[in-house]
This record gives sequence, C-alpha cells and structure tokens, in this order.
Amino acid sequence: MAHKTVYLALGSNLGDRRFNLRRACEALEDARVHIVKRSSIYETEPRDVTAQPWFLNMALACETPYFPLQLLAISQRIERDLGRIRGASSVPRGPRTLDIDILLFQNIVMDTPRLTIPHPRMLDRRFVLEPLSEIAPHLRHPQTKDLLAKYLSRVAGQKLRRIEL
Ligand code: ADP
Ligand code: MG
Repeated sequence: MAHKTVYLALGSNLGDRRFNLRRACEALEDARVHIVKRSSIYETEPRDVTAQPWFLNMALACETPYFPLQLLAISQRIERDLGRIRGASSVPRGPRTLDIDILLFQNIVMDTPRLTIPHPRMLDRRFVLEPLSEIAPHLRHPQTKDLLAKYLSRVAGQKLRRIEL
C-alpha cells in the first residue's frame, strides 16, 4: 500500500524526558511509522496549565501505510506503553511522560470527535511550529495555504530553547 507523509509532534515533561522521546521514536519505527526526518529537541515553557515542568518537544516527518485513525491508535498505544496515564486522575493538557500529536496527514482535512487534522492548536504553539519549520520550512497549512513562517512570527513571545546535542 502506498505510504503517506505525516508530521507528528512529540512532547514529554515527566520522568526522563529525553529517554521518553527516544523510546517513542523507536516504538514508532517498530510500528511501521518510518521516521524520514527528525527535528532538534527543544525545551519549552508549558502552555495552558503553566504550573508544571518544562517540556522537551520535537517534530517528526514520517512515512506510514496507515490511515489517520489507525495512526492515532498506534500513537495512543505508544503513549500508554511509556507510562502515560489518562482518565479521571489526569489533568487535561497537564504533565505527561509522552504526548504524540498528529499535526498533518498528507493534505487531509478532517474533523471528528476522536481526531481533528490538521491539529487545531498547532498554529498557536511555538513548541510545535519551531521544530516543524526546522524539518519542513516550506510547508504550507492545508487550510490556510500559508507558510508556517507566517505563524511563527506571532508566537515569538513563547519561551523556548533549542538543545544542542
Ligand atoms: P492534548 O494533546 O491536547 O494535551 P491529549 O493528548 O490528551 O490532549 O488528547 C486528547 C484527545 O485528542 C485524544 O484522545 C484524541 O482522540 C484527540 N485528538 C484530536 N485530534 C488529534 C490529533 N490531531 N492528534 C492527536 N490527538 C488528537
Ligand atoms: Mg495529545
């Protein structure tokens, strides 16, 4: 089956954050979500729930045979395997060992209760836009058709630093 190009955002702010990101990449590869390009790692200020540790974030360009909902199920299984707790005791947008968000899936636009693509908050988040434009500087948003650079300039106030490896 033809492979599709998808962009993912990874984040972690609990436990060994760098290890969690590395394990997530390995688990994606094992699940036939092949990583074509990976961004640097960025340490970023938490948004929404601000009283929580800073995150490590990165973006990935991947090729996969899966359809969007299949990819979501794989991502959530990997989140669980890495110790992510969902449900009553967890704070929405709160601390997590691993978050995998599907940013873009080909040029698909979909809005369902379980999955919205493009990710609805990606354009407001420097922790997404910065690593994503590092690996895909010429990408346009499939709905607005604008370059990511246009949105990056609007979020320059959000604190972040690129980690030199
Ligand atoms: P957040 O990432 O916003 O902090 P969660 O990771 O807990 O929140 O995800 C909440 C729900 O968002 C998931 O159960 C999933 O069904 C839904 N969701 C909708 N669109 C997406 C997307 N593009 N990528 C990942 N999850 C999504
Ligand atoms: Mg998420």
